[in-house]
Amino acid sequence: MMECRNVAVVGAGTMGRGIAHVAALAGYQTWLADVDQSTLQKSLTEVEHDLAVAVAREKISEVQRSAALSRLELVTDLNSIVSTCDLVIEAVPERMDFKQEIFGRISHQVADHSILATNTSSLSVSEIASSSRLPERVIGMHFFNPPHKIRLLEIIRADQTSEQVVEAVREIGVRMNRELEVVNDSPGFASSRLGIALGMEAIRMVEQGVAVAEDIDAAMVHGYRHPIGPLRLGDLVGLDVRLAVGDYLCRELGEEQFRPPALLRQMVAEGKLGRKSGEGFYIWTDQA
Ligand code: NAD
Repeated sequence: MMECRNVAVVGAGTMGRGIAHVAALAGYQTWLADVDQSTLQKSLTEVEHDLAVAVAREKISEVQRSAALSRLELVTDLNSIVSTCDLVIEAVPERMDFKQEIFGRISHQVADHSILATNTSSLSVSEIASSSRLPERVIGMHFFNPPHKIRLLEIIRADQTSEQVVEAVREIGVRMNRELEVVNDSPGFASSRLGIALGMEAIRMVEQGVAVAEDIDAAMVHGYRHPIGPLRLGDLVGLDVRLAVGDYLCRELGEEQFRPPALLRQMVAEGKLGRKSGEGFYIWTDQA
């Protein structure tokens, strides 16, 4: 099996920057690519900050911090580096057309041994793979927010994915210090399917006046030992992202439990997106 040395992360938003952080810390030469130069700069500042916090909390050493930063490079032109990458992890917005365009294009630029991964949180990895020249090299690598703190890596085996690629990604996941879970391609996989059902029901309960957000979250945190309540989690993920995934699962699985409540649509329309906009079910002063 070809050793993975170079990783490109496509999209430097909420997830891409965290994935790049984890990849660089694991020893991979890492390129972080985005079409937007200011997003790239902001992402680098965030990664620098997160690595400094990790040193202050004695999670990593100063040597590890500076080595990780030296392995991380920013690019706006993906074409200039993608042919040298053993692994490409796509983290652009959750839209099938965006993802298919990228997988179609880069599959003609990468070497045949490379692995093409998507960080989609719900879309069909098999459908994404079908747009690629190398469908058997396409796989889901679903990281969680924020990747440098939440260690789960959900590996999604598309209909076309070769077992060799699944094994290679398992090894990469271990090197990235991840807890692994492998699932066959199905809408929402294991994580989002359960998480969205819980999250939508929690919003319905706010809408129906069952309790305020803090109390619903407290029920799950203190009663069910969840580390964070479903409404606070929705704020951290982004309510626009939650809405898109809820709509998608509702369409694909046709189940009532995924249907986004009117309150969620209204909040997104009003720009209340959670932490990133400063307000969601909670008020956030540390805007991400
Ligand atoms: P985001 O909107 O924060 O970031 C997406 C980035 O992609 C933006 O910076 C945008 O400029 C860039 N981009 C768009 N088109 C591009 C292109 N052609 N080439 C390079 N860059 C491009 O999105 P996000 O929240 O980081 O989500 C990214 C993916 O990760 C989605 O599929 C989402 O479902 C998934 N995901 C998100 C979370 C979360 O908590 N936000 C968790 C797990 C998975």
